[in-house]
Amino acid sequence: MKIICIGRNFHEHIAELKSDTPSAPLFFMKPETALIRAGLPFFFPDFSNEIHYEVELVLKICKLGKHIQPRFAHTYYKEIGVGIDFTARDLQMQCKQKGHPWEVAKAFDGSAMISDFVPIESLKNAENIHFSLKKNGETVQEGSSRHMIHPFEALVAHVSKFVTLKMGDLLFTGTPAGVGPVQTGDVLEAFLEDRQMFRLPIK
Ligand code: ZN
Repeated sequence: MKIICIGRNFHEHIAELKSDTPSAPLFFMKPETALIRAGLPFFFPDFSNEIHYEVELVLKICKLGKHIQPRFAHTYYKEIGVGIDFTARDLQMQCKQKGHPWEVAKAFDGSAMISDFVPIESLKNAENIHFSLKKNGETVQEGSSRHMIHPFEALVAHVSKFVTLKMGDLLFTGTPAGVGPVQTGDVLEAFLEDRQMFRLPIK
């Protein structure tokens, strides 16, 4: 199983990090060891002073595919969840400045949180899936799949040009505006539509 993450898929988030808008979807990967195991908190790592949350919709890939055509892409995922792409923003800024890869900032143990998955068909409107994140009870991020620069089908088609997708792979589809830091003692809650999908303490 692998975790593929899309970067820069919402205009307001690109603006808040003063990044450029890529012409094609930008992606990077996290290893399976990045996943926070069920019931565990997020442990603040000692190699960073600035860990940011990024709430994202996450697709679960349901069959093997390579060079997937956009018109067939929707048949490669049936379930959706919400997740957090934890980012060591201080290390990522250093990587960007030096032109280095992002793994130290994005792929570390505990850098990926995911909820349970639900059938996309069970949602009210599959074209406009709302998701949000609360920190200590206050909403800090909100987004909708409708506002993505590249929709789900385009992401699946693009990534599968380079990397074979396998059943069980997870695709983080990009974060909306409002990313920010966590501190020890904070509690994050992620929502899909109005439903709370998980509650995650920062330890
Ligand atoms: Zn992200």
